[in-house]
Amino acid sequence: MLDFTLTPEQAELRAQAHDFAVNVMRPVARHYDNTGEWATPVYNKAWDLGFLQALVPKSCGGPGKTQVEEALVCEELAWGCGGLYTSIMANGLGITPILIAGSDDQKKQWLTKLVEAPVFAAFSLSEPNAGSDAGGMTCRAELKGDKYIINGTKCYCTNGGYADFYTLFASTNPDKGARGTSCIVVPRDTPGLKIGKALDKMGQRASNQVELHFENAEVPAANLLGKEGMGFIIAMKTLDQTRAAVAAGGVGVARAAFEIALDYAKTRIQFGQPIFSNQAISFMLADMSKKIEASRLLTWQAAWMTDNNIKNSKQSAIAKTFATDTAMEVSTDAVQILGGNGYSRDFLVEKCMRDAKLLQIYEGTNQIQRLVIAKEIQQGN
Ligand SMILES: Cc1cc2nc3c(=O)[nH]c(=O)nc-3n(C[C@H](O)[C@H](O)[C@H](O)COP(=O)(O)OP(=O)(O)OC[C@H]3O[C@@H](n4cnc5c(N)ncnc54)[C@H](O)[C@@H]3O)c2cc1C
Repeated sequence: MLDFTLTPEQAELRAQAHDFAVNVMRPVARHYDNTGEWATPVYNKAWDLGFLQALVPKSCGGPGKTQVEEALVCEELAWGCGGLYTSIMANGLGITPILIAGSDDQKKQWLTKLVEAPVFAAFSLSEPNAGSDAGGMTCRAELKGDKYIINGTKCYCTNGGYADFYTLFASTNPDKGARGTSCIVVPRDTPGLKIGKALDKMGQRASNQVELHFENAEVPAANLLGKEGMGFIIAMKTLDQTRAAVAAGGVGVARAAFEIALDYAKTRIQFGQPIFSNQAISFMLADMSKKIEASRLLTWQAAWMTDNNIKNSKQSAIAKTFATDTAMEVSTDAVQILGGNGYSRDFLVEKCMRDAKLLQIYEGTNQIQRLVIAKEIQQGN
């Protein structure tokens, strides 16, 4: 039995997120895109509404939203601003390793922080020489007594400059490659942890990414999530779950660009008629609409599978690839439909195009998603 009807609570949540996007995000989106400043007032309001800590379970005092609900919220937030959306969405990414592998005590220790204040978490897997090939990481965590001693460099850590703690992936047994990696929660104030400067980016400029430098940084051994050697599995399970929220971001960015292009096409007069009257334009818009609707359905499917404990490596990779490629295609076409105005910063579509590009790169590039899909179909999944 299929039913795409939202419950009254879900419809209310989506309306609340849309209202936040319209009234809080959109008015300041251009400012934070221009300056790259950290948008504390926006994040404080997102916390008031429960979006920043949406995935914190009720057992830890949080809203305990499902992945479908997270996707509903994320679509609206990305519609509001791709950069501000990423900061909020990445808080869910930062805590998901704890949700997956943390003990009850660890969940209480770390996740209640997000309920008590607008606190950020950050997911730290990538390294300068280990991006797509994350299993080739060299950051090392050595157990000495009751502490891990961490050495190495991580990069592109979203929210890293402002996070209270990091879910860090490091090698505890380099001889075992990916199977020798572990996930350890690292508090921000750990001696030996230095936070590098923020990345200057093409798009999503309101979001923050930094390098993390570990020099004999000492962390209690009790901060290990799960067992030693489980790190790579925790990372892959995390990304299977969170890619629906990235796909939802793709839907939101695409929808923002599409709405502006549709409105423009209906009102821009050339050769004595709205440009929408040209089939070349109306068919572009029809294709944009078609891809956005399909993206949303794939996103909801991937999120629903997580909520129902169904393995979704293939579906989350398909949703992420389809929806974020859609965001790139739709925003590029929207720029084209607006002509010279599309290229101008007076209209939002150029920002959508810059913001969309990152969605195809982070949480595993869309080439890597195709590798995942290919492996899954080869295995008959
Ligand atoms: C703004 C931003 C935010 C990010 N946030 C985070 C974060 O919060 N936490 C985190 O850990 N990481 C984060 N990342 C890192 C991101 O996940 C990586 O950039 C991404 O996985 C790609 O790694 P790479 O940049 O090293 O590219 P590379 O792995 O060097 O890839 C370069 C190119 O080669 C392609 N390629 C590589 N291998 C293959 C292959 N086998 N087959 C086909 N093509 C291949 C890639 O698709 C890509 O096009 C972020 C990155 C950015 C830019």
